[in-house]
Amino acid sequence: MDMASHSIPEHSYDIVVQKFGGTSVGDLERIRKVATRIGRYVESGKKVAVTVSAMGRTTDRLISMAKEISSRPSRRELDVLMATGEQQSIALVTMMLHSLGIKAASFTGAQAGFLTNEQSGNARIVEVNPEKMLKAFEEIDVAVVAGFQGVDDEGNITTFGRGGSDTTAVAVAAALGASECEIYTDTEGVYTTDPHVVPSASKIDVIDYDEMLELASLGAKVLHPRAVWYGRRYGVKIHVRSSFSYSPGTIVTSLAEDKKMKTERPVTGVALDLNHSRINVVGVPDHPGVAADIFMALGHANISVDMIIQGVPGDASRQQMSFTVNKDQVEDALDAIKPVLDKLGGTAVADPKIAKLSVVGIAVGSTPGVAGQIFEAVSSVGANIEMIATSEVRVSVVIQDDKAKDALKAVHTAFNLDAVQ
Ligand code: ASP
Ligand code: MG
Repeated sequence: MDMASHSIPEHSYDIVVQKFGGTSVGDLERIRKVATRIGRYVESGKKVAVTVSAMGRTTDRLISMAKEISSRPSRRELDVLMATGEQQSIALVTMMLHSLGIKAASFTGAQAGFLTNEQSGNARIVEVNPEKMLKAFEEIDVAVVAGFQGVDDEGNITTFGRGGSDTTAVAVAAALGASECEIYTDTEGVYTTDPHVVPSASKIDVIDYDEMLELASLGAKVLHPRAVWYGRRYGVKIHVRSSFSYSPGTIVTSLAEDKKMKTERPVTGVALDLNHSRINVVGVPDHPGVAADIFMALGHANISVDMIIQGVPGDASRQQMSFTVNKDQVEDALDAIKPVLDKLGGTAVADPKIAKLSVVGIAVGSTPGVAGQIFEAVSSVGANIEMIATSEVRVSVVIQDDKAKDALKAVHTAFNLDAVQ
């Protein structure tokens, strides 16, 4: 968890906070459009704090260069390298603003006051001190902040993890006391499911932080999960909208008070996650402490486990259990539990061909019948449910991945989420 603390400095500026993603600043022509849009706000008397991502696929390119040198490059140097992508963008956007006669200055993460912990590549924000930016607003109208980076207390450059510029933008909004943060992206907003997979997916007008957190962590790439967490923590509304149009997008806010909305719409979105594998452990002894040993070993290896089930024992003394882990951690997970299994008896095998389908909505837990409806829709395409997990805001099932897309469509339709054509 971020432990970020803020005391918002006194100021009387009317500040708009905006973030433009990599596609929106993909080339100079697009940067010109972004600068023009920013100019409109300046004309209406506002100060604008803009966060930008690296241009297009820049971050991917930087990472692959590093990987050409070494499969495991120094994490510190990788952060130094990745942070340059956003620094190109802030300079170019600022120059473009100047060319339009707009007073602007760029800020690296450090200059914008982002202090983080020392976790290279996945740093958490400790504090945002916007004093420099606020001081600059005496002279300029637009502060252009480099996304996804800060410095630790030793001055090392750190980055926030892929997609982390969203978090920069929301943290800037929180630090400046702005009540809203606009996230400009290449879609019209947040959809009921991935429109590339289900073309009838509809745009969501308003979504609760808790729902969005679930969808974002399930891999709906539209917002960085920590940005949503930050928005909820500091009460910053997040407006996800298209940088290619002026139509309203999706507002991420707190809907908890709105009871009516809850019952009208138990399900807000459906997500498919193909990034997990299952590990099946069979033949371990059925006595206290076995699960503890296995999952402690995984914990020590820094592997987070998503879903867990323990089977009904076949005979009185042996037990089986299954859990899911991120695909790129399967080998590490098998290595981590091997000593435990060598000691206790039992074997583990990985099954990569699984998909996790999750139905998300703030009233999912309190609306009778949601689980049944999901299971019915999933079975209608012949998919067998192999694991189930539920929370207040989510029901997830694990099925075989070859049936996943059909199941997703069936569930999406079952909850009336298809756009009215
Ligand atoms: N440029 C970084 C990335 O590609 C951060 C971001 O775009 O949000 O992940
Ligand atoms: Mg992004």
